[in-house]
Amino acid sequence: MRSKLIVGNWKMNGSRAANAALLEGIAAGIDGVQSAIAVCVPAPYLQQCEDTLKGSTIAWGAQDVSAYEGGAYTGEVCAKMLCDFACRYVIVGHSERRAYHGESSELVAKKALAAMKEGLTPIVCVGETLEQREAGQTFDVVGAQLGAVLAQLPPAAVEKIVVAYEPVWAIGTGKTATPEMAQEVHARLRAQLQARAGEAADSVAILYGGSMKPDNARELLARPDIDGGLIGGAALKAQDFLAIIHAAE
Ligand code: PEP
Repeated sequence: MRSKLIVGNWKMNGSRAANAALLEGIAAGIDGVQSAIAVCVPAPYLQQCEDTLKGSTIAWGAQDVSAYEGGAYTGEVCAKMLCDFACRYVIVGHSERRAYHGESSELVAKKALAAMKEGLTPIVCVGETLEQREAGQTFDVVGAQLGAVLAQLPPAAVEKIVVAYEPVWAIGTGKTATPEMAQEVHARLRAQLQARAGEAADSVAILYGGSMKPDNARELLARPDIDGGLIGGAALKAQDFLAIIHAAE
């Protein structure tokens, strides 16, 4: 039985003061919660997370990582640096990075590998655009995105990744995939993981992301292959994030 994982993706939001209130609010509401919880924050706030969350059950991580180990790559942050701030997770291949920063699946795979080399857990995002869904290409698109990462990993390493299915048309739009639509894609992704890693794939968490909110979380999280959520907008209010965390219990 996989336990649930609920991850907040703060995107480019936050300030020291707002973060302090948000983290305090989340920490105050998770007594007895069984699911794993994490927040992926802008890199400048990793130190604040370490200071505030150390010793708590809330993990933290980043939203991107360099494919390189270090050196002359202005503006980049490498995996070793994230480890310096005790990160556990890093999101790779978020659709906003694919769309606005031209990240290819090959680059995403390199980033996932660079993260894993340092012991970080990459949260590998995959998802189709509305146009691709309407053209019946959903499985081809997400299959190719995940396949690029799997091709770089020895089968034994597959169980160390987290996958997030985030239909692009559902991110920040208020439109959510129905639980049936999401489960169908998650089951395909699970089968792809199994084809590469066998039974070990059963322990891989496949998260759903895309306008997950307190009022739709329970139904989504009840599906057999939906192992948690990657939450954007609703992760910025402690009350909403906590409602989703409790819906996963
Ligand atoms: C995201 O950006 O990962 C996300 C799922 O955003 P939202 O929940 O706001 O749709």
